[in-house]
Amino acid sequence: MTDTMTAEQRHRCMSHIKGSGTKPEMKVRRWLWNHGYRYRLNVRSVPGKPDIVLRAYRTAIFVNGCFWHGHNVRMRECGNALMRECVENSACCKIPSTNREFWVNKIRRNQERDQQNYNILYKNGWHVIVIWECQLTVSKIEHTMHEVEVLLEENMLALYKKHTPLPYSYDEESTLPMAAEESV
Ligand SMILES: [Zn+2]
Repeated sequence: MTDTMTAEQRHRCMSHIKGSGTKPEMKVRRWLWNHGYRYRLNVRSVPGKPDIVLRAYRTAIFVNGCFWHGHNVRMRECGNALMRECVENSACCKIPSTNREFWVNKIRRNQERDQQNYNILYKNGWHVIVIWECQLTVSKIEHTMHEVEVLLEENMLALYKKHTPLPYSYDEESTLPMAAEESV
């Protein structure tokens, strides 16, 4: 990413990429659909408006762009007089050096908002799966989505256990009348 664009230009550029049909979210949707999963999109009634909602698994999936959501970018206070954050770039999120403060603040706010949304979902009994854009390249998507599938199965199992009544009692069985075929 070059730093020749103004913040405004970059924003428009990024918005355009985000709005196109090739966005990472589409890859996830297509994979899930082709593998028999049925879902809803951008459900407003679910906190944080997740990209994909699988109600049967009580799971919300967020497909995050690495730049906007600051994948692997750790923000930490430096403790100097200005209390500016020390920020390290990550492999897939390079914060521009031009207007750096603007970008750092923007990405930090996005990270905070993401975390708040996930926390609200956890509190409401939802499972959250975050998929990163860089995990959806041609060479990685199959592996990534198989991991997602494993998580979904675990979520389903957790849900099933939660709704399972008390353990089966043999004593209870002995007091019940035996079921038999009616004699003709
Ligand atoms: Zn990434």
